[in-house]
Amino acid sequence: MSSDVTATGLDSVRAEIARACRDAARDPAGVTLVAVSKTFGPEAIEPVIAAGQRVFGENRVQEAKAKWPPLMQKHQGLELHLIGPLQSNKAKEAVALFDAIHSVDRASLCEALAKEIEKQGKSPLLFAQINTGAEPQKAGVLPQDADDFLTKCRETYGLTISGLMCIPPLDEAPGPHFALTATIARRNGLKLLSMGMSADFAAAIAMGATHVRIGSAIFGGRQ
Ligand SMILES: *Cc1c(COP(=O)(O)O)cnc(C)c1O
Repeated sequence: MSSDVTATGLDSVRAEIARACRDAARDPAGVTLVAVSKTFGPEAIEPVIAAGQRVFGENRVQEAKAKWPPLMQKHQGLELHLIGPLQSNKAKEAVALFDAIHSVDRASLCEALAKEIEKQGKSPLLFAQINTGAEPQKAGVLPQDADDFLTKCRETYGLTISGLMCIPPLDEAPGPHFALTATIARRNGLKLLSMGMSADFAAAIAMGATHVRIGSAIFGGRQ
């Protein structure tokens, strides 16, 4: 049964997070597992909720909007995180639906988010995404622009950015990208670090990740 497969994936991810925390002499309570359920339907998500997982990540607003409200109505205390790029014209829906947004990366989006946060009286946890590999196809603020961007978020838009997020280039060792993200966070006084996916979350935890975004190791491969 596919639900058994799913619960097994979650169990081994939990065990690996615990081991990585032990190796890094970190308290496991300081690492939030964001179970990335993009492309998977309620039948795959339900067993993971039943196994006690409460924090989920989606990369598209429309998909999340179709999928999560019924699940949230059915289950208490779920937390939904947006981990993919956000268009400014979807800021309203994103603020309404998500408890955290990991992909704040440009002034126009800051402006739209600030407006909606004020209007809706809701403040999702915000992470600024850093394009640590300076990849042209990838979203995120360039590392050399990060300090200015964070100042602007605060001073121009009145946004509280609580942490940084990065997605290392596929073809490079992730360690230096995690380290760079941690360094930028530290010098800007930010406590949260969203980094680490199925293939590299142990390394991310060793470098201080507070939020690991894990999909395929829990749910299996995506189509
Ligand atoms: C899909 C996705 C993940 C999860 O990736 P896996 O390799 O399946 O764990 C994490 N972060 C972001 C931004 C994603 O889009």
